[in-house]
Amino acid sequence: MDTMKAIWMAPLAGLVLGCAASTASPLGDDFPKPGPDGKVRLTEEEWKRRLTPEQFRVLRRKGTERAFTGAYWNHHEKGTYICAGCGLPLFSSKDKFDSGTGWPSFTKPINPKAVGEETDRSLGMVRIEVHCSRCNGHLGHVFDDGPKPTGLRYCINSVCLKFRKS
Ligand code: FE
Repeated sequence: MDTMKAIWMAPLAGLVLGCAASTASPLGDDFPKPGPDGKVRLTEEEWKRRLTPEQFRVLRRKGTERAFTGAYWNHHEKGTYICAGCGLPLFSSKDKFDSGTGWPSFTKPINPKAVGEETDRSLGMVRIEVHCSRCNGHLGHVFDDGPKPTGLRYCINSVCLKFRKS
């Protein structure tokens, strides 16, 4: 009888454990916890473990995805774009516009504190680089040729973002 019980219980236990795991992370995300100062700081090795090779190349090595290849340049659903590295909300679909560049483009961040800026003098150009203010992940660049109301164009790599439908 005990043996019969064990045979019945084993798959049941598996089911229960499986459900518990999916409840803890319903969207399959497991973002790193910020420190006491609200920043996320991981070693390069930890980022490598967490990110796909393409996410790592762009977010942590300031790479650029090829135009018209990302998930969001032609994406028009209503919702919020969050950082693929740490989950911080970065951009709203309300501020997204079709720039024709092949990269998702926004007139502003979801709030002024969401992204940081830095002068980028690479490739013989002077550009303003933008990054996630929480994990410092590189996102793209901001240019002053955007539409109203801000006149700005935040040109962002899709691979640095995840979308949350509202
Ligand atoms: Fe981040």
